[in-house]
Amino acid sequence: MTDNNDAVLVDSFGRKITYLRLSVTDRCNLRCFYCMPQADFNWMPQENVLRFEEITTLVRVLARLGIRKVRLTGGEPLVRNNVLKLIEDISRIAGIREICITTNGVVLPDMTDRLVTLGVRHINISLDTLKRDKFEEITGRDLFDRVWNGIEKCLEADIPCLKINFVMIRGRNHDEIADFAMLTRQLPVEVRFIEFMPIGKGSNWGEQFFYPSDKALEQIEKRAGKLVRKERTAFSGPAELYRFQDGRGSIGFISPLSHRFCNECNRLRITADGRLRLCLFSDIEMDLRQMLRTGINDEDLAAFFMDAVKTKPARYMARTQNLPSCNRRMSSIGG
Ligand code: SAM
Ligand code: SF4
Ligand code: SF4
Repeated sequence: MTDNNDAVLVDSFGRKITYLRLSVTDRCNLRCFYCMPQADFNWMPQENVLRFEEITTLVRVLARLGIRKVRLTGGEPLVRNNVLKLIEDISRIAGIREICITTNGVVLPDMTDRLVTLGVRHINISLDTLKRDKFEEITGRDLFDRVWNGIEKCLEADIPCLKINFVMIRGRNHDEIADFAMLTRQLPVEVRFIEFMPIGKGSNWGEQFFYPSDKALEQIEKRAGKLVRKERTAFSGPAELYRFQDGRGSIGFISPLSHRFCNECNRLRITADGRLRLCLFSDIEMDLRQMLRTGINDEDLAAFFMDAVKTKPARYMARTQNLPSCNRRMSSIGG
């Protein structure tokens, strides 16, 4: 195994895999009705969750194979015990250039300064409403002020890549789409409108809640003014990007059901209990934890990853009515 960037992970469709989404816990301090409804959860037993040294072993081996960007997600990544230490350990791994975090923002106000010191430059904060009572209705907790404060702290700290993730739910928050879009006039943030995905048992998915990206675009232009399309770049990921002519920020639409960007997919996922997932919508998983706990060495682990990526599907596997699905809860995959 070499350290040079030629030794990249390449799948059987020629896609270079450079991005790892790492779920560091399945636990969460919110109960979003579309992800982790109150009545339906059992945390993973603690011994099933990857330990820090297991996570860093995986990242170290993957970094030598060309992984450059790692996103910590969950559950809520910032409630994992001692998560700042984990971030520090990952940031020291040769080859890792970007550490990103997707968070619900609740404990972010207490951590922003430390995250900045650790070199975290990419933070995605999930927020589905600007109304306090609606926030409680959607997330099961009266914590809107904390999350908004987290956004403010990140703005004060000049986090260079700050995004707000908004899951569009017809009948719950679709009437706030234009208001969120308008935030990007004043604030240097990317607001990303995400279509509600039929993911995970008990996620309350239902056709009646689905609000498509094209409707959102129409609503924004009708209420807030014309949008200009932004060129796709290597950093666009799965979002189609727009901005207001006079806007400081940008607007992204993530439309998983059309998944037009599978051909550019550069990502792997590792679940909190150490399963490798090659596609968000495929339930095929490989048990890395078992390998780590039976003493696999770095060379064999690298060889395993090289083989495993060859089985990454070209795109999501259609199930019924061409809808993708997956059985695991979103909170243990991390989105
Ligand atoms: N707890 C963190 C948070 O909420 O940002 C990270 C984990 S969460 C599973 C990652 C992202 O997935 C969040 O932006 C969340 O809104 C989104 N998400 C969860 N369930 C979803 C669903 N069924 N459809 C679309 N997005 C979903
Ligand atoms: Fe928690 Fe994030 Fe799921 Fe909401 S979306 S329940 S914040 S993991
Ligand atoms: Fe990648 Fe699968 Fe998502 Fe397509 S559906 S972008 S292949 S993870």
